[in-house]
Amino acid sequence: MADAPTPPLPTLAGLAGEFYGWCKKHELRFQRCTACGTWRHVPRELCAACGSWDWEWARSSGRGRVFTWTVAVRAMHPAFQHAVPYAPVVVEMEEGVRILSRVTDCPPDALEVGMPVAVAFDDVTQEVTLPTFRRAPREE
Ligand SMILES: [Zn+2]
Repeated sequence: MADAPTPPLPTLAGLAGEFYGWCKKHELRFQRCTACGTWRHVPRELCAACGSWDWEWARSSGRGRVFTWTVAVRAMHPAFQHAVPYAPVVVEMEEGVRILSRVTDCPPDALEVGMPVAVAFDDVTQEVTLPTFRRAPREE
């Protein structure tokens, strides 16, 4: 049997490379403006809230909730052929930023808006670790 095709992976350059560098250490960090405290993602140089260039990589709690998703029933890349149907999920983190990922222990038809999730890490290659999510206990 032929090797499975390699999935498309992020380019590890610039600010995105720094983001994935933290993921490789199994730490989920987002940029936080050190002038006004606003969190942001995806990585960029300038704070959209106050215009400051000053920021830090601040550690996320890793907790969030399902914000929205779609279900892919046709693989858009051969590497995902085995995974269909799967759900790309937008998670809203406690810090307020949203991240596109997957909830790996939840089939698409069991997803719910507001479902609590917690970050996990998928070491896809020796260089690339992707942040993924798992279901988390509901807090009353
Ligand atoms: Zn700011």
